[in-house]
Amino acid sequence: MEKNCVFCKIIAGEIPSAKVYEDEKVLAFLDIAPFNFGHTLVIPKEHCHCFTAIPADTLAAMMSAAQRLAIAVMRATGAPAYNLLMNNGQVAGQEVPHAHLHIIPRFVDDPVSFRAPQKHYEGNAIAEFAAKIQERLARQSAQ
Ligand code: 5GP
Ligand code: ZN
Repeated sequence: MEKNCVFCKIIAGEIPSAKVYEDEKVLAFLDIAPFNFGHTLVIPKEHCHCFTAIPADTLAAMMSAAQRLAIAVMRATGAPAYNLLMNNGQVAGQEVPHAHLHIIPRFVDDPVSFRAPQKHYEGNAIAEFAAKIQERLARQSAQ
């Protein structure tokens, strides 16, 4: 438990929340300021700052819960679609520094949008980026 973390306080029951799911490793509750009603947050009970800090077994439990929750959220709200979203780091828009996966139900013509202008690779740049990432992955595997 991190002292000043709002989501740790929710886990500890110090701040109320509309819980929808809980197990040994995972908690899910409704976002207090939803993009659409039913917008759900899935979090690890262990305080982790972001995606890459979540232990593998906890991440597996989160994803398994998220899969079931996505279906339940769609059925409960009548949404035909949903977004899974995880902001990691302040620059990426993460406001609460306790990892959380958003499940956002989506409706035809709702005002929610995660689209941004897209870039184009010039020349060989796409292969160069792929090679750089592959090289980093190989180094991580060797560690
Ligand atoms: P982020 O921008 O960090 O990806 O998303 C944080 C989310 O947590 C926001 O959508 C915000 O509405 C939600 N949130 C922040 N504080 C609370 C809270 O005290 N209770 C609940 N249920 N949600 C919160
Ligand atoms: Zn926390």
